[in-house]
Amino acid sequence: MAHELGEGGDLLILGISELATAVGDSARRGDAMRDIVRIPDAAVVARGGVIEYAGPRLGLTQELVEGLEPLDAHGAAAMPGIVDSHAHFVFAGYRADEFLQRARGSSYMEIHRNGGGILRTVEATRAADLDALMRLGEARAWAMIQQGVTSVESKSGYGLDLETELRQLEASRAVAERAPIDVVASYLGLHATGPEFAGDASRYVDYAIAEVLPAVALQGIARFADAFCEPGVFSPEECRRFLEAAKALGLGVKIHAEELQRSGGAALAARLGAASADHLIMAAPEDHALLAEAGVVATCLPLTSFCLGAKYADARGMIDSGCALALATDLNPGSACSGSVALAMALAVLSMGMSVEETLTAFTLNGAAALGLAGDRGSLEPGKRADLILLDAPSIDYLPYRTGVNLVQATIKDGELSYRA
Ligand SMILES: [Zn+2]
Repeated sequence: MAHELGEGGDLLILGISELATAVGDSARRGDAMRDIVRIPDAAVVARGGVIEYAGPRLGLTQELVEGLEPLDAHGAAAMPGIVDSHAHFVFAGYRADEFLQRARGSSYMEIHRNGGGILRTVEATRAADLDALMRLGEARAWAMIQQGVTSVESKSGYGLDLETELRQLEASRAVAERAPIDVVASYLGLHATGPEFAGDASRYVDYAIAEVLPAVALQGIARFADAFCEPGVFSPEECRRFLEAAKALGLGVKIHAEELQRSGGAALAARLGAASADHLIMAAPEDHALLAEAGVVATCLPLTSFCLGAKYADARGMIDSGCALALATDLNPGSACSGSVALAMALAVLSMGMSVEETLTAFTLNGAAALGLAGDRGSLEPGKRADLILLDAPSIDYLPYRTGVNLVQATIKDGELSYRA
């Protein structure tokens, strides 16, 4: 009997006009980010959801294709599935009104101080039960899958209390069971000070360390802990206390660093051996050097800069300093509620001086590295998961050229078709 496309994760794709992928099982740094392979007239073979072959069609052997029904890509370009390594998508409560206030000139911190911002989403998220959060997260996950996302991070941080943080993390895990996408959960304990602590950040940090972190670690429902290091939110010292406690419990760490002001988050990330330092809009060349030396993935979030009307992180400076740079959407209900991978890619090329090759590496292999997953995904190579996308375009050059347009024609997760346009 002929196989349905990707049934059981067995797959043969022919007619690929260009197969583009970074290679390797760890983050690519500096100049090596540009070194991707671009193979014309390519084919992909997967069995059991794992890639057996990704290369020139002429390299296929009878043994490789035995028993597989070919899928004709009709001249589509193929690339690895997108790994969105920074996203806050399991939440309740949109804030369109604030977005428009900000567009008219109110600052992020003004809105935050007036009781808006994160705390409004906290209120709505606390009021949402597990089922509601799962359904909200699942709907957003499907929108990501349509854009070619095969793995995504899910940050908590909209509960700021034990019960809701655990519920958000539990909902994140449930999304991966309900939709064909892998979800890596991060406990964003230091996102804002919980309303019960009346602005006493240090006392809230004590609570997060004593009450929430141990429960998160015990339940094994988060891979990372994360902190928003920003003057007026959490100091580097508060972040250090929290993240060191997380490391001691076996969690990896990430930091929202140098977003609105430069305050030492990048240096802290380097010191702690964080998986990533994220935002980095205000990072200085010394910070770039520290991140490069420590092997911390520098994660840039162009949609946030675009939506805040802020400057863009110095991606060129980071790459030229030898950093491994990742790109991500930062999908969240406040600063950047877009989640558009296509627009983020175009901004990387048009506003951050990145090449299309660097952009691809940043959104695939380096995104995987920022989540500790580069060993089994992020590139199209034998032995990796068959997570890939087909584009309605003959080459990846069209990604920035068709600015902001979602070119994803098909998303394949673990060798199975999860979305087709
Ligand atoms: Zn964030």
